[in-house]
Amino acid sequence: MNPSAHDVCVIGGGVTGAGIARDLALRGLSVLLLEKGDWGAGTTGGSSWMIHGGPRYLEFDWDTTRLSCQDAGHIVTIAKHMVYRVTFIIPVMPGDKNNIERMETAMEVYDRFQPLKHAHPHTRLTPEEARRAEPGLTPDIVGAVSMEEWGVDPHRLVFANVQDAVAHGARALNHTQVTGLLRDGGKVIGVRYRTADGATSEARAKVVVNAAGPWVPGVSQMAGMQVGLRPAKGIHIVYPYRISNFSVSAESIDGRDLLMVSHGAFTLVGTTDDDFYGDLDAIDVLGDEVDYLLQAFERVFPSIRSYRPVRTTAAVRPTLYKWRRYEDELSRRYEIFDHARDGVDGFLTIAGGKLSMYRLMAEETSDLVCKKLGHQATSMTATQPLPGSESDIEPPAELAAGSGIPVLAAMRLQRRHGCRAGNVLKQSRSGRMVCRCEPLTEAELAHAARHEQVRSLADAFRRVGAAGGPCAGAACVMRSAEVIGRELGWSASQRFEAVREFVRGAWLGRAPITGHSGWAQEELVLGALRGLN
Ligand SMILES: Cc1cc2nc3c(=O)[nH]c(=O)nc-3n(C[C@H](O)[C@H](O)[C@H](O)COP(=O)(O)OP(=O)(O)OC[C@H]3O[C@@H](n4cnc5c(N)ncnc54)[C@H](O)[C@@H]3O)c2cc1C
Repeated sequence: MNPSAHDVCVIGGGVTGAGIARDLALRGLSVLLLEKGDWGAGTTGGSSWMIHGGPRYLEFDWDTTRLSCQDAGHIVTIAKHMVYRVTFIIPVMPGDKNNIERMETAMEVYDRFQPLKHAHPHTRLTPEEARRAEPGLTPDIVGAVSMEEWGVDPHRLVFANVQDAVAHGARALNHTQVTGLLRDGGKVIGVRYRTADGATSEARAKVVVNAAGPWVPGVSQMAGMQVGLRPAKGIHIVYPYRISNFSVSAESIDGRDLLMVSHGAFTLVGTTDDDFYGDLDAIDVLGDEVDYLLQAFERVFPSIRSYRPVRTTAAVRPTLYKWRRYEDELSRRYEIFDHARDGVDGFLTIAGGKLSMYRLMAEETSDLVCKKLGHQATSMTATQPLPGSESDIEPPAELAAGSGIPVLAAMRLQRRHGCRAGNVLKQSRSGRMVCRCEPLTEAELAHAARHEQVRSLADAFRRVGAAGGPCAGAACVMRSAEVIGRELGWSASQRFEAVREFVRGAWLGRAPITGHSGWAQEELVLGALRGLN
């Protein structure tokens, strides 16, 4: 077979595209997956990191809650090493849109869906009980309910899908942008693409799938097709530690539900939901958006402003087009467009949806691809474990003792690699820590450069959390560049350039939350870099 000819080419390496590539590769089709940036670096990486059902959709989009819960149940089973329980306390304040009775009724309805995703039912708490569990809550609360969801590192979830697709014969290239579609009359017969080194190439495919998230309209335009989205921007404030025992929700000034999510060792505060008309490749975070979030949380968690955030994230939801409704009330459902209906055969688009039902979206898209190709094979992704979840993991203390690394480092490693963690360490002798504040070993970083398509420090941040701790890179970017550079053959000046590029990018995410202490942090980073130059 011509190496550049595939059954299917998938455009977009977010969770949707990676999920489709995995599903099709498991069904025995030859797949090419192309991502213009890094795996999960688009909307998926900027999400709230939750595999959830979305109780608030019950009010206006009941089916999305049901489908999300159903698919979340599959995802937490196939990715068991990656997921963790996230327990919320939902405080009720005097005058909130939902009083405690209404809140509890909503939770009773949501409880019916919880078994689908292996989560526990809610509990109603008195103000005293809620404050005993979460002392940071204001004494003004009139009651609270608990709610359980799941958390996941979306970058790892995407990469595990890519990894499994490749293990089943797919070709997956990051930093590779699709610049056009190959046509034969009305039919799409492949893609034209540009790789990281600027080289251009072409690949033939019997079916091309547009899974480009909020970039879907631009990619469908390449075939002269219109797919309407109502893109909506959401930001988060990131704290490099936990600031509460439990995750907490708050009502915003305009009555929206906001979340402060405790993800193990860090906290995400979000999110906004605003129509977006800007450049998808340069999404700014505004000071106003940060204040909007802090204002809401200050009401229920008064000390919020005393904590030092480390960065912000911003992403755009690929929401389906709808005129008139408020952003927050838009349906999170998805749609698969077969452009053959408009005279363009061999070209599909998937748009909308959620991280929490990516597997189902991928299964339905893959079903349609198989139907078009006359390929008889069913999806296996509801039960086939992702790489790392094939068997139980050993107790972290044993892995730590056997390899001479701290237990916390072993736990982090297992969260990313599951039962394969021991193998990652075996491939390099160095159990040395890269950073004092983020327990990442040199061995894992080297492994990421060698086997996980890490080509920059930003890739390493996403793949293994390099520079993701409280130092925000001040103590470890140079060291990380050395480790990666050794694997990829970078010269001294290439290493330094890689660090500068990372620091420049990180600054853009940090500027909106940089107050007095932030500037001190910034000086520290720059000082460290000057010292090591
Ligand atoms: C703030 C926020 C919070 C959210 N929180 C949650 C949550 O907690 N739980 C949940 O279930 N959902 C959440 N969502 C929704 C969820 O994140 C998205 O629905 C999902 O991640 C979309 O994934 P995707 O793969 O379709 O898009 P993306 O992740 O954006 O992937 C599309 C990819 O296509 C690539 N691409 C674009 N054009 C090209 C091209 N020409 N060539 C090659 N590649 C290209 C892009 O670089 C991108 O990586 C949230 C969304 C936002 C914005």
